[in-house]
Amino acid sequence: MKFALGIDIGGTTTKIALVDEAGQIANRKFFYTSKQKSENDFFESLFVSISELMEEAGSEAHLTGIGAGAPSANEREGTIENAANLPFSPKVDFVKVLTSKYDLPVSLVKDSNASTLGELNYGAAKGMKNFILLTLGTGLGCGVVVDGNLISGRGGHASEAGHVCVNKFGRECGCGRKGCLETYVSATGLKRTAFKLMANSMAESSLRNYSYENMTAKAIAQAANAGDVLALQAFDYTGETLGRAMADMAAWFDPEAIFLSGGLAAAGELLFQPAAKSMEFYLLDFYKGKIKLLPSALGVNDAALLGTASLVWQGLPTIRK
Ligand SMILES: [Zn+2]
Repeated sequence: MKFALGIDIGGTTTKIALVDEAGQIANRKFFYTSKQKSENDFFESLFVSISELMEEAGSEAHLTGIGAGAPSANEREGTIENAANLPFSPKVDFVKVLTSKYDLPVSLVKDSNASTLGELNYGAAKGMKNFILLTLGTGLGCGVVVDGNLISGRGGHASEAGHVCVNKFGRECGCGRKGCLETYVSATGLKRTAFKLMANSMAESSLRNYSYENMTAKAIAQAANAGDVLALQAFDYTGETLGRAMADMAAWFDPEAIFLSGGLAAAGELLFQPAAKSMEFYLLDFYKGKIKLLPSALGVNDAALLGTASLVWQGLPTIRK
């Protein structure tokens, strides 16, 4: 049986899976990226996990190729560059390391593009030619499909929507600049908003029992669902900011749908409702009522893995032998 090996590299965990052409995951494994001290440690753990995965799959399993998704991936070069949350040197030649070990075609895309390909090939975007996917987690990731093609850009760094400036006097961002979209619209952004609202208000709130370290987007969602006014305001503000940004994205790409995925999107209507309302308000007239705001049809864990596997089946960017 033929399989693609999908690798989804994240700051906390790295997940790997054997996926068939129909998008069925046969076997999967993960290890903690956060426990690796260096890129050598990382590759050693990766190779061990791959061996174990292949052993479990049995001798009938045959690898066709390897697809990977990672933060800060350079899709043109097959490298991972200046990844803030990975134990890597400034430039890791990921594709080269993998091809020299396995003698298979290897393809690398950035993490949000992996999720976008998963949605396109196996999820709710199947058959769509123009859509945007936003992953709302610790930061904000983005993938854009225009006229059926995932856009990559000159240097392989297109669609960095998390670092579009929405307020030049705004919050400091991990990228060193100010007012980036992800400092407002992400799990971290929601948390920063909740603390700002608490500082500016005397209202009672269950959120006041949390330290900054212990606060999570999930806790804010729970409080909001229980009717906590400050938590609801935090979601409204986040959704309003997101809606305005999506109206801008519509002006660039004219999508038929925008998908929200990731931990923060799991808040559901708390986020979707104010985001949709704000997007409609800010949209140019001829887009109004025409852009669907949808949740991802794939689990947070599976979208990226399926997307990386689809790189193999479709021979997408940076495949090298
Ligand atoms: Zn930034």
